[in-house]
Amino acid sequence: MKYLVFLLLSISYFSQTITYKPNAKVFHKDLGDSIQVYYENNESFPLTFKYTQTGSNIITTVTNETFIVALPKENKLFNTVHPKDPYIEWSFNYDTKVTTGDLLNQKNLDYVYSLPFESNKSVFIMQGPFSGKTHKELNAYDFGLKLGEKVHSARKGKVIFVKDNSNENCFNESCKEKANSIAIIHDDGTMAMYGHLKFRGSLVRINQEIEEGELIGYSGNTGYSSGAHLHFEIFLQDITNGKKITINPKFKTKNNPSGEYIEPGKYYIKP
Ligand SMILES: [Zn+2]
Repeated sequence: MKYLVFLLLSISYFSQTITYKPNAKVFHKDLGDSIQVYYENNESFPLTFKYTQTGSNIITTVTNETFIVALPKENKLFNTVHPKDPYIEWSFNYDTKVTTGDLLNQKNLDYVYSLPFESNKSVFIMQGPFSGKTHKELNAYDFGLKLGEKVHSARKGKVIFVKDNSNENCFNESCKEKANSIAIIHDDGTMAMYGHLKFRGSLVRINQEIEEGELIGYSGNTGYSSGAHLHFEIFLQDITNGKKITINPKFKTKNNPSGEYIEPGKYYIKP
């Protein structure tokens, strides 16, 4: 006799201004004398699952808290559950969270990005990582683009968030959610955020595939901002605490086409 409880798959994706739910699930097949647990990733980028289980009188393949990286389009049996003693009651339940990207192998996140503006344009870096009032906890860059200047994608990907209906700004936290922005997910599961775009300043829609260097919108001064600029960051979400992990990207510049880390207070030309 067995007693089974399955909690609903809880998929969470939280960020300051975007919410994204990957197309993925963990599910089981009840074979009577055992249970098989599978994960399914229907996305074209890797995902990380946090799988937790509890139960009594059971033998399982994985430990009670397990982190699993699911490759793009991968569907796999990862856990088989048997009763230790089949003649007495046994119980089993599980819960899952999922986030985009390979959270267990972040060392591979070394892509060299295009600068997010027009070619041959020289742009001043107003603010860099872990500085000032707005980047205290962020690996992020503020590019000195004026109101209505062209914003180009820094890497190929799929649009997962667009907001361009705000016409408000102020220089405190209360305006954070008033920022117009575009988020694009890349094939390694990292995401790029293009922030403070102008009112109706997006040229893209959700799920649109974007090439690197494509014109995607126009810069502005919406949200937590005191003047027109483009806020740019590359990020993942830490599945253990739900916080954003921002990554310091290298960019292709005219002086260094193979890639370099850019610094605030300097001008850079996009090759
Ligand atoms: Zn910023």
